[in-house]
Amino acid sequence: MLDWIGFLPGKRESRRFVGDHILTQNDIEAAGRHFDDIVAFGGWTMDDHFPEGFYKKEAGTIFHPAPSPYGIPYRSLYSVNIENLFFAGRNISATHAAMSSTRVMATCSLLGQAVGTAAAVAVLNRITPRGVYESRLAELQQTLMEDDCYIPFRRRSVNEITAQASVTSSNGEKAESVTNGFDRMIGDDDNCWTAAMGDRLELRWESPVAIGKVRLVFDSDLSRPTHNMVSYYTLDQKPFSVPAELVKRFRVQIRGADGGWTDRVEVKNNYQRLVRVSLGVTTDGIRLIPEESWGNERVRVFAVDAYPAESDPA
Ligand SMILES: Cc1cc2nc3c(=O)[nH]c(=O)nc-3n(C[C@H](O)[C@H](O)[C@H](O)COP(=O)(O)OP(=O)(O)OC[C@H]3O[C@@H](n4cnc5c(N)ncnc54)[C@H](O)[C@@H]3O)c2cc1C
Repeated sequence: MLDWIGFLPGKRESRRFVGDHILTQNDIEAAGRHFDDIVAFGGWTMDDHFPEGFYKKEAGTIFHPAPSPYGIPYRSLYSVNIENLFFAGRNISATHAAMSSTRVMATCSLLGQAVGTAAAVAVLNRITPRGVYESRLAELQQTLMEDDCYIPFRRRSVNEITAQASVTSSNGEKAESVTNGFDRMIGDDDNCWTAAMGDRLELRWESPVAIGKVRLVFDSDLSRPTHNMVSYYTLDQKPFSVPAELVKRFRVQIRGADGGWTDRVEVKNNYQRLVRVSLGVTTDGIRLIPEESWGNERVRVFAVDAYPAESDPA
């Protein structure tokens, strides 16, 4: 009957660290909307376990609802009194009640990415973690969103070249949504270009622009149940697989001076949601052509951004 057992004794709550902000139950219930420095999100209910654990005869947990998503502020991720100390994961600056929601693994991993990115910003600019909050917050949030992190209530800012492009498609709906800076569904709005294999999405400019890279965000069905992080795998667990709607094979074409289109890049075995491809061309038009998915007849594209040759979004 026993198909899984933890290999380490675990504890949900041990030492408490204090940052410039201590995240509270009230903050979570307000969805963190009042924070200017959101760098990650949570969504798990606040689940407060009784200290007696399974020796408690009645239900072992009190659940306090939490909005999903709610924003988590950067100021909870570094120490209030130790200048060079970050917190990433279960140890962020939060009250007992708030931590009962933020401590889940998927949320901890987002906090890890936020802190890793903040550490890079701090090192590059020779500033402290608090210095990042004081002078580089917008850069931190934008870098996270460029790397396809979701920050609630924030829009990724789209560069000038992309904003100037006119977007059309040979077929499919909502082509123009690929340059709006939102890289996923917005509520019930699917906010993406939905296309069949071989359909073409075109970005065109009035005069040629020098393009270094193209950044693409494909649909990887973030709401599929098997995305949930589980703390154990049962024997009857279905194997994980690449989402059927994800683009597997695609081409990027460029428009020549004569108005003809030529292939610039072909990617054959993509299994990523965020894809950056190098172009290194001066052109007045690029095309994205999805040619194969991992199973579905239609695919969905959330973002197509063109980056000027001198910038490096990676
Ligand atoms: C019993 C239990 C059940 C849970 N169930 C779930 C669940 O179903 N779903 C879910 O999402 N979350 C669950 N959680 C919560 C979640 O697992 C943890 O909060 C999360 O994994 C914490 O991740 P972390 O990286 O912040 O810390 P940890 O996973 O604790 O990692 C810290 C690491 O640092 C290491 N370390 C410590 N000191 C040092 C040192 N001086 N030098 C080097 N390394 C050091 C430790 O060995 C450890 O590997 C559960 C937690 C427990 C205890």
